Amino acid sequence: MLRQTLLTLAASDRVRDLVTRLPVSSAIVTRYVPGESTEDAVRAGRRLAAKGLRLTFDHLGEDTRDERQAEATVAAYLDLLAALSEAGLTADAEVSVKLSAIGQALPEIGAKLSLENARRICRAARDAGTTVTLDMEDHTTTDQTLATLRELRMDYPETGAVLQAYLRRTEDDCRALAHEGSRVRLCKGAYDEPASVAFSSRADVDRSYVRCLTVLMAGAGYPMVASHDPTMIRIAGALATRFDRAPGSYEFQMLYGIRPEEQRRLASTGERVRVYVPYGREWYGYLMRRLAERPANLTFFLRSLISKK
Ligand SMILES: Cc1cc2nc3c(=O)[nH]c(=O)nc-3n(C[C@H](O)[C@H](O)[C@H](O)COP(=O)(O)OP(=O)(O)OC[C@H]3O[C@@H](n4cnc5c(N)ncnc54)[C@H](O)[C@@H]3O)c2cc1C
Repeated sequence: MLRQTLLTLAASDRVRDLVTRLPVSSAIVTRYVPGESTEDAVRAGRRLAAKGLRLTFDHLGEDTRDERQAEATVAAYLDLLAALSEAGLTADAEVSVKLSAIGQALPEIGAKLSLENARRICRAARDAGTTVTLDMEDHTTTDQTLATLRELRMDYPETGAVLQAYLRRTEDDCRALAHEGSRVRLCKGAYDEPASVAFSSRADVDRSYVRCLTVLMAGAGYPMVASHDPTMIRIAGALATRFDRAPGSYEFQMLYGIRPEEQRRLASTGERVRVYVPYGREWYGYLMRRLAERPANLTFFLRSLISKK
């Protein structure tokens, strides 16, 4: 209920206006976003890589209706990939891309433009020795995003997919994507979705997560277990044992700033752990989804707004 209210409030221009007046240096922002520039991202990446963690970078921005903005996002990814390569980080760092940030939502030309733009990022990633994962957004984009994934994989089969366990369709999507060479990140899902397409109770989402993960772990692909939930992490470990998965044939993923001790603990036990590092000026939508996930953050957030620190 509170989650839904926060996600609805997040769509209000007045709330956006108030929140985006917070400096990026305010504690509530820096907890989840290490900074706005490529340099900030690379610096955070270096720090995490030194702790034995792998990385995926997300240049923040979504839902653009402006071709120039989409082009600027592509340029930011190309700049980042060059900087990661120069920093010697590409063996351990890939990038995550939202198709809506590179033009998917543009009327008429969206599908074609975002595919072309994604191809450019995939080519640059491959040249730098790394890969791309396509983030998944709200359910109205799922079919289009999976269609774009199929096209991209013809030339770049290493491109990763994301599936959201809260969607009723996802178990079937897992079956379709659990094949040799297929990298699939499974998350619970972060958008406010109608009951017609998504499970709404936490217990149902968790049960779906376990069913989906079982399909992925039993299959021939490369599962990426994106969750901070201790139960899901424990079950993932048990499934890896049950299906005889060698270390390195799957990985855990968590968001920057969430359960950092657990990220390091898992890595220290020999698990492969990747941290999702979002950066850039458009941090608003991302921050609001993180706050909506954890109402306990709300007091901290309101205090930040009042003190404007
Ligand atoms: C690497 C990665 C990539 C993702 N990519 C996508 C994507 O492409 N599309 C999409 O819809 N969603 C994505 N998500 C978000 C995901 O769908 C969930 O919304 C988010 O991960 C919270 O779910 P959870 O599995 O951690 O479980 P939850 O049950 O929500 O949380 C479990 C525990 O984690 C901690 N925790 C969780 N969230 C927070 C928070 N915001 N602040 C502080 N502590 C917290 C708490 O201790 C909580 O008890 C991604 C998540 C990860 C980790």
